[in-house]
Amino acid sequence: MSGDCIFCKIANKEIPADIVYEDETMIAFKDINPQAPVHLVFIPKKHVETMNDLGDEDAGLLEKIFRKIKAVAKDNGIADGGYRTVINCNRDAGQEVFHIHVHLLGGRKFSWPPG
Ligand code: AMP
Ligand code: ZN
Repeated sequence: MSGDCIFCKIANKEIPADIVYEDETMIAFKDINPQAPVHLVFIPKKHVETMNDLGDEDAGLLEKIFRKIKAVAKDNGIADGGYRTVINCNRDAGQEVFHIHVHLLGGRKFSWPPG
């Protein structure tokens, strides 16, 4: 837990969120400002600020999250059509919340390369 972190507060149920999945490792909730018909945010319960801060002790953490994303994408009916997963790291990528998270976006087409 990091004092001011909004995603830690969601994980600790100190502020509300539309939670769609939770286990001992992670929590997933609907993005408050959705950029696609399906836009979920997956976070580890452990506070890790950015991709740059992942340590050896975090081995397997993102794999667990991505395996769950795969299942949730299927449950949301976007697996066959396709979806995008995004991790923004630091300012050039537009990271706004400094608790590592994976966006799951689906239900529409996405352009490539991204802007
Ligand atoms: P990023 O730019 O990758 O840091 O994305 C942070 C995301 O968190 C944005 O898409 C926000 O809309 C989303 N977000 C911020 N606060 C909340 C909240 N309280 N509940 C749900 N999503 C949030
Ligand atoms: Zn946090």
